[in-house]
Amino acid sequence: MDSFAHRLADIQLRIADAAARAGRPPQSVTLVAVSKTKPVEALHEAVRAGVRVFGENRVQEAVAKMPPFERDDVQWHLIGHLQSNKAKIAVERFAMVQSVDSIALAGRLNRLAADAGKRLPVLLQVHLGDEETKSGVAPDEASELVRQTLDLPNLELRGLMAIPPFFPDPQDVRPSFRRLRELRDALQERFPAHPLPELSMGMSHDFEVAIEEGATMVRVGAALFGARA
Ligand SMILES: *Cc1c(COP(=O)(O)O)cnc(C)c1O
Repeated sequence: MDSFAHRLADIQLRIADAAARAGRPPQSVTLVAVSKTKPVEALHEAVRAGVRVFGENRVQEAVAKMPPFERDDVQWHLIGHLQSNKAKIAVERFAMVQSVDSIALAGRLNRLAADAGKRLPVLLQVHLGDEETKSGVAPDEASELVRQTLDLPNLELRGLMAIPPFFPDPQDVRPSFRRLRELRDALQERFPAHPLPELSMGMSHDFEVAIEEGATMVRVGAALFGARA
């Protein structure tokens, strides 16, 4: 009973239930299957079960796993910190970079996307304050970063991403998810000409609460693939 397909079906049901509680259709939530550290066989099983979006936090590891899936309708999202020397390959190989957190990185991605003849969908990663990670723009600097990013013609800014602090009780993360949604709503009001529909928030432990608070993308690793070593 503990096959990938069963775990995926269970998570899809829980996504649909959480979306229903928020008055939204299940298709309003994209499941990003976080496959970091997992071998390519696990990704084959995921694709056979219906996964089409993978999240990886290291460029080199992801790119090494991509070749067998190039003929499938599979997308890769970068969800980890991007070093500038990996930016070119990231632009070329990822469908979305969720971890843009500085104007320097945005500018570099914009130039590389122009060179590659594409418009790269991105999210801005916001640092909500108390998490261990140093990545992410501070909430009070997000507006300026949005303004500057919207001026970059080869980036398509789609919304915000955050990795809130871990709490044993997922209900305790709710205020962080709500804060990210409220920040997005405020930015949307400030920049009405540009839609910012995406909120990437919620992981294995707390994705249902995140959906109740407005997540449109949940990044689920361990609950799908099993615990990481
Ligand atoms: C690892 C990771 C996840 C998935 O975490 P799980 O607890 O395994 O679901 C989600 N988002 C980011 C940015 C990650 O690095």
